[in-house]
Amino acid sequence: MAETLPGLAGKRALVTGASSGLGAHFAQRLAAHGADVVLAARRLDALQSVASMVEQYGRARCVALDVTSAASRAALVEEAGPIDILVNNAGLVREGPALVHAEEDWDLVMDTNLKGMFFLAQALAAGMRERGGGSIINVASILGLRQAGGVVSYAVSKAGVVQLTRTLALEWARYGIRVNALAPGYIDTDINRDFWQTEAGRALVSRIPQRRLGQLEDLDGLLLLLASDASRYMTGTVLAVDGGHLVNTL
Ligand code: NAD
Repeated sequence: MAETLPGLAGKRALVTGASSGLGAHFAQRLAAHGADVVLAARRLDALQSVASMVEQYGRARCVALDVTSAASRAALVEEAGPIDILVNNAGLVREGPALVHAEEDWDLVMDTNLKGMFFLAQALAAGMRERGGGSIINVASILGLRQAGGVVSYAVSKAGVVQLTRTLALEWARYGIRVNALAPGYIDTDINRDFWQTEAGRALVSRIPQRRLGQLEDLDGLLLLLASDASRYMTGTVLAVDGGHLVNTL
């Protein structure tokens, strides 16, 4: 008899930064595979239009969240109810030379990409522990594993996400909570699409061994693996989806 991978039916997933890009896509994929999805981001109006797309597949709810605010995180935990799968995706970048990188930009990037990620995971892990477990997927980046110019705070924050993933995996394995990281390479989204048409953008793509950008769909396999019980013996892993960018030649 043919066996299928475990689905997500009956699971409740929360996706942060769900109003655009990767987060909006993740919410749709999780719903398409049976999860009830809570979409979270700062602007409820932007979330509503994503929710109507998610509802083609399954149930969606929108909750306002600013991951940098303790009060907002607490309100979200209250409103969202029990969560089995947390996709910690909200993030931003502030670009520019390290010599002139502003302290307020450093703080904003760290507060959003790293501190907000940790404290939201902490807040939701309490309920996961009570219910016997859960899966946390932290969205890192290949810039947390290698470096590039002009993104100092972003790269450091994503390196922090890598180590956060491993330390939480170690501490929370005993509660049945798995913590893994998805590290995308360069993904083609609405926000960066113009850049790929520039000379610098084309040069960057030429350094990716597969010679193309990632598409949102390229992340689906790893997202669904980490969200589902198919990865039940995986925790503390950091997996890149990058067309081989991390292994390009010296
Ligand atoms: P995006 O700008 O389209 O999405 C970011 C999301 O985070 C938005 O919904 C935004 O509203 C939300 N967000 C930002 N600050 C927030 C806050 N304080 N509280 C709540 N939500 C907040 O960008 P994206 O490309 O979809 O990025 C999503 C994640 O993927 C980020 O963590 C990013 O670092 C990571 N990533 C993206 C790429 C890429 O090529 N696009 C590559 C590697 C990693």
